[in-house]
Amino acid sequence: MTTVEFFGGIGVIGSSKIMISTPEARVLLDMGLDIPAEHDLFRAPVRERPGFELRDRLTVGFAPEIPGVYDPSQLDPGATLSRPDHRPTAVFLSHAHLDHDGALGFVRPDVPIYAHPDTALLEAAIAVSGTAGPGNQPELTPMTTPVTVGDITVEAVPVDHDVPGACGFLVTTREGTLAYTGDLNFHRDGGRLSQGFVERVRGVDMLVTETTMLSFDVPADASAWEPRSESAVLDLAAEAMTRAPGLALVSMYVRDVDRAARFIARAAAHGRTLVWPGQAAALLHNMGVEGVVTWDGSRPQTRCHTEAVARAETCSGGSIRTVGLEAVRDSPSSYLIQPDVSDVPSLLDLPLVGPCRLNGTFVPFIHAQGEPLGPFMANWSTYIEWLERLDVTFVGVGSSGHATGEALHKMVMDIHPGVVAPIHGFRPEALQVDVPRLVPEYGNLYTLDGKTLP
Ligand SMILES: [Zn+2]
Repeated sequence: MTTVEFFGGIGVIGSSKIMISTPEARVLLDMGLDIPAEHDLFRAPVRERPGFELRDRLTVGFAPEIPGVYDPSQLDPGATLSRPDHRPTAVFLSHAHLDHDGALGFVRPDVPIYAHPDTALLEAAIAVSGTAGPGNQPELTPMTTPVTVGDITVEAVPVDHDVPGACGFLVTTREGTLAYTGDLNFHRDGGRLSQGFVERVRGVDMLVTETTMLSFDVPADASAWEPRSESAVLDLAAEAMTRAPGLALVSMYVRDVDRAARFIARAAAHGRTLVWPGQAAALLHNMGVEGVVTWDGSRPQTRCHTEAVARAETCSGGSIRTVGLEAVRDSPSSYLIQPDVSDVPSLLDLPLVGPCRLNGTFVPFIHAQGEPLGPFMANWSTYIEWLERLDVTFVGVGSSGHATGEALHKMVMDIHPGVVAPIHGFRPEALQVDVPRLVPEYGNLYTLDGKTLP
């Protein structure tokens, strides 16, 4: 019998981990870090202990007890969880975001991890930039055709999200089919990929869907998360750059490589050079993005940045262009700067204070889904206080990577599965549709038609 078990993603945004098992094989969809709904015990200033990340997380309940998946060398000797499962097991990664890939470093080396080729490339660049999750460096196998694990077949079906290579999955066993959305939306670049996903999985037995945007009555900062097209995002950013007589700041998520490349080009069209912290520059350079610029030695950056730049130059050849503080202070209107949000006082290096900045000059912080992500993040209020102190104006121009509630409801009705399982949201029960619904619970085993096994 085919069973479905949820090891994450219930009542939280992220942490999705869905195990589909038959007597002959097991398939685990996504392996994100657990993101608690309330308080994350591992948030700053707590630092994980190198080599103890998995053990510590399991002990305080911040990693699920998934049998036969964890790397024994990261567990206590003789731990029950370190025993392998007798069935072939494989992990499939929907996209390269921490809430989906962050725990891949805990996976047993003999369990293969499959992903879309673009996701595999991005994960390699993430490794070079030194921004991967804890544990081992996972090795990903790019999948271009469906993969068979025992009697289970898994097909990657591309979707629109906000990161290269994003996919949903169609899982087929002898008993039926399960589709998983990963994270998706229907407004980026016309939502053509997501629409293709809908067509491909129409009529599946079970649909497991993300429900991020059903979590909020009104998004935390609506202006930063509206469902905009990428060209609308760029136009708003350009407007802010035009209004700024001097320096402009930007914050975007560097793993959204396409948006980063478009911002570099748009800034250049406005006579501005976009300057990235070293780790971001390393990731983009490794992904082959043109026109990547970072700081030279005149601006002190933490070692993780300088080391990442050196690694990126070694790995992919070529050198990353640099600029110095002097050049930025001499001509602030020629630059768009992405600050290192983890190094808040480094804002004071920039011509935001002192004679380089005329009093009352408009300096925008163009927020396009970068750090700090929103009021739900621990680092948000401090950062906003710094911006206020420096008289920098927050300008929200982003666009959510997630489908609106309306688009989600339409998607479910269009797919019309036998049963829908909402996960990856604070309020899964807000998905109100005219098909049978299963709001899953931890510790339960479900059949493909949504029944709970005794
Ligand atoms: Zn997610």
